Amino acid sequence: MNDDTKVMDTVPGFLAHAIAMEEESAERYEMLADSMEVHNNDEAARMFRKLMQYSERHADEVHTLATGMTLPDLAPWDYNWNCPDFPEGADCSDMVSYLMTSRQALDIALHNEIRGRDFYAWVARESPDAEVRRLAGEMADEEQEHVNLLQAMLERPEFSSEPPMEDFDPPNMPEG
Ligand code: ZN
Repeated sequence: MNDDTKVMDTVPGFLAHAIAMEEESAERYEMLADSMEVHNNDEAARMFRKLMQYSERHADEVHTLATGMTLPDLAPWDYNWNCPDFPEGADCSDMVSYLMTSRQALDIALHNEIRGRDFYAWVARESPDAEVRRLAGEMADEEQEHVNLLQAMLERPEFSSEPPMEDFDPPNMPEG
């Protein structure tokens, strides 16, 4: 993401980033929710559907803010979700659809919510544009709420004590 610094200088640049991130989140949450439904974990599925709706709402809000602006083209793969045990920037979309215990799903979601929060917090601090800083600050606060929701769920014994799935054997899994 080496162009971030430049792109974050302007409202359209920031909005384009935000849309890409929120749309990616919505898609991944839908995959996580579907996967949890397959495993009959309705509570985790409901959590992911809720977070999917939050991401969709964010994306809609940002689209509304961007009305009439020309947004820069961004490479969508820069916004792929990461998995906690993967190298930074490695795409783990396959894992997200492959799943997995609810614990692992919650871990991946939390990891990416923290990334999102840190991204918005960084823009809120560093952008030279006051409007970008304000918008990013609001987004950072909302992402923090999502982080809190996931952390609270992960702390509950039925999720925190859950063992990894035995036959979990995704493609291209790094050693360890
Ligand atoms: Zn979020």
